[in-house]
Amino acid sequence: MKSNSRTPTPIVVLSRCLGVEACRYNGKMIREDFIHHLSSYVKMRPVCPELEIGLGVPRDPIRILAGDGGRTLVQPATGRDLTQPMTTFSQSFLGTLKEVDGFILKSRSPSCGIRDTKIHDADQETVLERGAGIFAAAVLEHFPDAAVEDEKRLRNRIRREQFLTRLYALARLRRIARRPTREALNRFHAKNRLLLMAYNRKELDRLDKLLSDDGEPDAAFLAKEYKRRLSNALSRNPRYTSLIGVLIYALGPISKQLTDRDKALFLDRLEGFRNGKIPASGPVSLLRSWVLRHGPRDLRNQTLFNLYPMELNEAAGPATKKPLQRSLYDI
Ligand code: SF4
Repeated sequence: MKSNSRTPTPIVVLSRCLGVEACRYNGKMIREDFIHHLSSYVKMRPVCPELEIGLGVPRDPIRILAGDGGRTLVQPATGRDLTQPMTTFSQSFLGTLKEVDGFILKSRSPSCGIRDTKIHDADQETVLERGAGIFAAAVLEHFPDAAVEDEKRLRNRIRREQFLTRLYALARLRRIARRPTREALNRFHAKNRLLLMAYNRKELDRLDKLLSDDGEPDAAFLAKEYKRRLSNALSRNPRYTSLIGVLIYALGPISKQLTDRDKALFLDRLEGFRNGKIPASGPVSLLRSWVLRHGPRDLRNQTLFNLYPMELNEAAGPATKKPLQRSLYDI
């Protein structure tokens, strides 16, 4: 496991068919380069809910039906109703998870899909809508603050970066939340200030207020509330204009150590980023190198410059079709 004292090891629950075991209904497994690469950096907890409720490999497909009594999970070829076993397993498995930072689940599965699973009508002929599989729905209910993605969405570089940013932030906070104190939360908050400024200023203000409220002495409550707000703040990519503002702000304390040529180069990269000609990695990586050399300690310690192991950006995968400038940390 590749980790160090500054970079935590996130705990991730993984659909078992995503590179661990050939346990899909058709006896196959899916290999995703990014997930394979990530498994060297995080603690994976693979699970296959369909195997856990006693289905074999290969097996007849199952599907979700929507009826008057709610959603049911059925196996049309055998007529079995698997709703109860799957619900019972999901509650019991998720209830035993003491610490978890994220989930990577198989898309479109009636068990694991987080948003794009087909929901059929009761006669099984029409797809009414798309939604979460039975296990995934329980995940979203039990762990509303976790970083949750499916393998298909993680093929997009921007979503990968956002997922990793949120995952590692939650893993860092988890270390504090084991024995929370107001001082530790304040230190954590200070290190994440630039990140939160780039992602979501409103949540940053709310977190400032939360931690400055002396009327709330319970550190465990504070940690829980902090996690909820942090997770929400990092649930969407920031606007690129926010990142530019934060980079200019971060340049302030080190600008005296830079030559006119350095500054011109930085502004040039910033302009290229603003125009969508180069990715965010241009100005961010340049600033990061200066911050590590010349920056005061509190700037060097900002997680904005140490979000997650940068080697994770090297994972192979199809390029995103989204504009380059929306990608934040491809350093
Ligand atoms: S999608 Fe989920 S239930 Fe289906 S094979 Fe993969 S891990 Fe098992």
